[in-house]
Amino acid sequence: MNAAASRNERQSVDPITAPPPISPGAEEALSPDLSESGSAEGPNGTAALTGNPCPTEGFGGVKPHVAQAGYHLIAVFGMRESEVGGVAQRPGNPNSDHPRGLALDFMVDTATGNALAAYAEEHSKELGINYILWQVPSHYDHVHISFNSSPGSGMTC
Ligand SMILES: [Zn+2]
Repeated sequence: MNAAASRNERQSVDPITAPPPISPGAEEALSPDLSESGSAEGPNGTAALTGNPCPTEGFGGVKPHVAQAGYHLIAVFGMRESEVGGVAQRPGNPNSDHPRGLALDFMVDTATGNALAAYAEEHSKELGINYILWQVPSHYDHVHISFNSSPGSGMTC
């Protein structure tokens, strides 16, 4: 199956995160929005996304599509990479997705966790999410997200 590789290369811009179209001809202007970069707040307090592809490396070496999903989520919720756990050993849990780089833990307060879990659920297809653990035993201070082994349809940063 070589379809996956070619699909990655022409990953289209996701309609949900695509910025609103600028006036005709404005695309050739020199980055008209850069001067406003100080106020990167969206309508719901979310960070404005640039529409660029998300980085594929990070979070301790998780799978590339998991890193991309992680960077998308921390951009949306204004989190730091240091607040997210990725690859880690879980000796007590042989079924954990952490050792194989298919899971992320977002350390959050309750309000952020509620919003992040709801957002992740809403965009699970794009992010390639398998399941989410939040507000269940051992998951009151972090949102655990397990990802499918193959990428979702993709989100930008
Ligand atoms: Zn976890």
